[in-house]
Amino acid sequence: SKSERELDYQLMEDVARFYEFQLKQHTQKQKVIDYLKGRGLSGEVVKYWGIGYAPNEWDTVLKQFGETPARQSQLLALKLVNENDNKKRYDFFRDRLMFPIRDKRGRVVAFGGRVIDTDGPKYLNSPETRIFHKSNELYGLFQARKEHRSLGRLLVVEGYMDVVALSQYGIRYAVAALGTATTPEHIQTMFKSTHEVICCYDGDRAGREAAWRALESALAYLKDGLVMKFLFLPDGEDPDTMVRKEGKAQFEARLNDAVPLSQFFFSTMRDKHSIGNIEGKAALKAEAMPLINKIAGENQRDMMLAELNKLCGDGHRFTTELDIKKAQKY
Ligand code: ATP
Ligand code: MN
Ligand code: MN
Ligand code: MN
Repeated sequence: SKSERELDYQLMEDVARFYEFQLKQHTQKQKVIDYLKGRGLSGEVVKYWGIGYAPNEWDTVLKQFGETPARQSQLLALKLVNENDNKKRYDFFRDRLMFPIRDKRGRVVAFGGRVIDTDGPKYLNSPETRIFHKSNELYGLFQARKEHRSLGRLLVVEGYMDVVALSQYGIRYAVAALGTATTPEHIQTMFKSTHEVICCYDGDRAGREAAWRALESALAYLKDGLVMKFLFLPDGEDPDTMVRKEGKAQFEARLNDAVPLSQFFFSTMRDKHSIGNIEGKAALKAEAMPLINKIAGENQRDMMLAELNKLCGDGHRFTTELDIKKAQKY
């Protein structure tokens, strides 16, 4: 007989299929189809990602899958069903566009749900469960690995819609962290599949801050030979809007121009500190040193240190000595 885990994966798969089926048969399906069309999603890409619809009712999944007490406990454990203080049970996802989240091996472990009209938080994700550990999973990783025998690079974006839109335009190597920041575990996972990770967050303040946090998380995994790059989009754009405006070739041209981590690191440091005086250089060095020391690759670390010294250490001393010699000449 099947283990508890296998039964969990089976139920998640069945529920994903059920949400997908609602796009074909539910009385409310037209508004969902109109929404998908309005966002430019093709039928093909909706099918590829298994996008579905959770109806606007309290007990669709509960009724369909909760026929026995054991099944209802399983639904509760997988957070497909919730229980309120009065022990009343109800569907967790209602009236949302549903994105099944698959683990690296292709098993459905969670869902992301987006509102279609405007009520409530824009996205609702499955809470952690016995089969879903948010900081380990990346939306789209299973598909990206399936599409390529070896992944030359991986693109990390913020949202499901970004991954889906990029794939529609033929960029099939994007993954999304699930509503949280890109964690050290995500970075580790990505570098198991590729040597180059390009972070492409939204062109807004939150996106730029997320990029810096991703840099900090990456240092400890940056062995020599591994590369992290950053693509900064114009204000107000995300990969979804950008690729729809520009198409594949122009978007990939942006990717080819992405900024290497070392460059992003020093340009951020120079923006933050004034290197026109010793105080500024000292502050820069105090912030940069502990970060550079985290870099896993010895060569990358040494060269970053050399660059730091050029910026605010040795260079300064050298100029002074030169000045002294010059002064002695006269
Ligand atoms: P869309 O294009 O559908 O509006 P988006 O992906 O561009 O979606 P963002 O607002 O840029 O949406 O958010 C990026 C990601 O952050 C989302 O895909 C989602 O995973 C997560 N997220 C956004 N809002 C919430 C929320 N209220 N609760 C939980 N996660 C959220
Ligand atoms: Mn954003
Ligand atoms: Mn978007
Ligand atoms: Mn966005």
